[in-house]
Amino acid sequence: MREGVIRLRRGRSGERRPAHPWIYNNQILKNPQTIPAGGVVTVLDGAGKFIGRGYYNPRSVITARILTFLDEPLGTEFFRKRLSEAFNKRRPIFARTNACRAVFSEADSLAGLIADIYKDTLVLQISTLGMERFKEDIIEAARDALKPGFMYEKSDSPSRKLEGLKAARGWVGREGEPVVEILEGRARFLVDVENGHKTGFYLDQRRSRLAMEGVTKGKRALDLFSYTGGFAVSAAIHGANEVKAVDIKEDWLALGRKNAALNGVGDKTGFTRSDAFSFLEGLRRSGEKYDVVILDPPSFLKSKRSVKSASKGYKEINSLAMGALTDGGVLCTFSCSHNMPNDVFSGIIKESALAAKKRFSILKRCHQDIDHPIVKSIPETEYLKGYFLKIEDN
Ligand code: SAH
Repeated sequence: MREGVIRLRRGRSGERRPAHPWIYNNQILKNPQTIPAGGVVTVLDGAGKFIGRGYYNPRSVITARILTFLDEPLGTEFFRKRLSEAFNKRRPIFARTNACRAVFSEADSLAGLIADIYKDTLVLQISTLGMERFKEDIIEAARDALKPGFMYEKSDSPSRKLEGLKAARGWVGREGEPVVEILEGRARFLVDVENGHKTGFYLDQRRSRLAMEGVTKGKRALDLFSYTGGFAVSAAIHGANEVKAVDIKEDWLALGRKNAALNGVGDKTGFTRSDAFSFLEGLRRSGEKYDVVILDPPSFLKSKRSVKSASKGYKEINSLAMGALTDGGVLCTFSCSHNMPNDVFSGIIKESALAAKKRFSILKRCHQDIDHPIVKSIPETEYLKGYFLKIEDN
């Protein structure tokens, strides 16, 4: 495909964030040439100096995304190098698990690409038109660099629409098992790569799930928004006496039950279909308490604009959860939205405690696990935040 050149405006209007791969529409000097959507572009600064090379989509407000700040060609060889680098950085993680995010988009200088490994199966997710155009190169490079037994494409993120792309799903080459069994510390989990959320599993919460070890021994634990029982199973394995997992979707509860049985904790782990808010309201009415509550909701906010209304939801659920704890119990609470800043989330926790008439101390601050690195020059790479809090009666 023909390659194009874009030049940024001079002065402040063309200014970019240092080492950041995104170029917005309004930073670009009007350009007489026609660059095909999804085509490769070389990005020059206002003085005509080379900045980087990436891809272009005039349909998106992020009109160009830079993949390299070196003057090098983009093709199979480039992707092979990038994928190997990303994979090699993660090798130490395989001491605890056989499932890991191998490529985390911008954080691995591969804007628009996610690649997750579940044992022998690699799941690819492409979210931009520019990356879509490189699909064949990426598949070939992934075969060489990651040597997966099977490859599944799960390109169905909502952002594809903004890029003018339809969802695409299916096995690439040989068909693998739709449900893959993975290891995570002492736990085993079934991952539904074809139908599950994201690429099948919330790999980003691995570190916090493993940290159940320090809080659940001899306790009654409640895992709200449980999905397939990641926290619930981890709590049960790590010595909880009794665990209740709650999710709104029966399919995930069914897989959760299988996960509990697989780990030999089916007898002490119950799965209940309910809206988490109503479940907590029920506990408030009955006065039933738990020693540990895990609160890992889906993002309540899809854009920066809804911070205010989403904050209300987070505050409500956190104060209800605090109310459902025994005195001195532990709340493990999370927000997975990049648009929820750390300071706003910590403010919400304070307000929730005030509303629940509780005081708290921070036992642990949580982040996405290390295979989802937070690149400081790219703030959008930071999204998952949370706390383990000791909650005491006032
Ligand atoms: N903690 C999980 C991931 C949670 S994902 C893990 O470690 O694997 C969020 C889950 O919340 C999804 O499974 C979704 O079905 C569920 N959910 C969404 N809205 C809900 C609601 N109102 N009440 C209960 N569960 C809900």
